[in-house]
Amino acid sequence: MTITALMPVYPRCGVRPVRGEGVYLYGEDGEQYLDFAAGIAVNALGHGHPKLVEAIARQAATLMHVSNLYGSPQGEHFAQRLVDSTFADTVFFTNSGAEAVECAIKTARRYHFANGNPQRHTLITFNNAFHGRTLGAISATNQPKMRDGFEPLLPGFAYAPFDDLEAALALIDENTAGFLVEPIQGEGGLRPASMEFLQGLRKACNEHGLLLVLDEVQCGYGRTGKFFAHELYGVTPDIMAVAKGIGGGFPLGACLATEEAAKGMVIGTHGSTYGGNPLSMAAGEAVLDVIQEPGFLEHVEAMGQRLRSTLEQMIPNFDHLFEEVRGHGLMQGLKMKSDSRRFVAHCRDNHGLLLVAAGENVIRILPPLVIDESHITEFATKLSDAARVYVPAADD
Ligand SMILES: *Cc1c(COP(=O)(O)O)cnc(C)c1O
Repeated sequence: MTITALMPVYPRCGVRPVRGEGVYLYGEDGEQYLDFAAGIAVNALGHGHPKLVEAIARQAATLMHVSNLYGSPQGEHFAQRLVDSTFADTVFFTNSGAEAVECAIKTARRYHFANGNPQRHTLITFNNAFHGRTLGAISATNQPKMRDGFEPLLPGFAYAPFDDLEAALALIDENTAGFLVEPIQGEGGLRPASMEFLQGLRKACNEHGLLLVLDEVQCGYGRTGKFFAHELYGVTPDIMAVAKGIGGGFPLGACLATEEAAKGMVIGTHGSTYGGNPLSMAAGEAVLDVIQEPGFLEHVEAMGQRLRSTLEQMIPNFDHLFEEVRGHGLMQGLKMKSDSRRFVAHCRDNHGLLLVAAGENVIRILPPLVIDESHITEFATKLSDAARVYVPAADD
């Protein structure tokens, strides 16, 4: 037997965290890491945030799980807060991002079905998109590394180049349900959509009776300095998938929709055993309490600007390695001239700095939203130390 007990689908590295505190992770032998990956944009409040820890502990002792067959005072309360803070009128809770995307796809299809147009089932999605790993979510991307060997995939998706409005509009036909798009692509290479692109998609939806479905699993929930990234664009979606930061590390996701867009989602059309259980709602409420504290999003924006100017000042010193910075708030990408995965490993193994690689040789910088200036200074020191001694491989 050579297969590992943990199914070997991840290239797991030598970092083996056993404890976290604020912006730091600690390994088995006590080694310390500055965590500017935050579980891939999940640990919005860092590690061990007292309010989140306390809320989970208290709720676990009170009531952990009941079926969705019963009334949910916890779910009603948290959903109402999300409704009050966003474009949405209704929320379905899930346990992950991919499930939030699944619910978004189903809601979009059901909308046209309810309108008597069941043939309008195709969502236009975009090159390099990442929507999760379920069969529905991998069908919604055309990245071969996620799709190969899993065919037949779900029909009902068409693919256009990201940020190319004309190409997206050219795909609209009598089967189109709408667009499914990340306002800022994360995994695909930290690429923000342009204003014209996102606003153009919204306009096309209004003109053709289509739905704008946003995947804000990574870029949402305060990450950009706005509660949701679409606020940066002055555009509202009809349906939106949310996860990652919403639970601060507790597995939680949500599909938000307007009343009109959710008109097909009636009793019996969707469900989840765990989705929205009292424990997850307590985690969600605790995270939202912190994010909605006065000044919190302004803090994210200020830290984002500082992080960005730090990176911009660093690029000329290492212009053999780095090309440009892109992103918003505390979702920044540093584009490299060589393999970003190798550089991320170097930072991790030799400088105690955790980052995340993305497509297009980009380094994703996704710190907890609670960082202060001292963490950015420490990050800058570690990153420039790492860059100073780094030699890209000849074949990078
Ligand atoms: C992480 C991610 C997902 C999938 O979330 P899971 O919780 O891993 O299922 C979907 N969309 C985007 C944009 C993501 O970054």
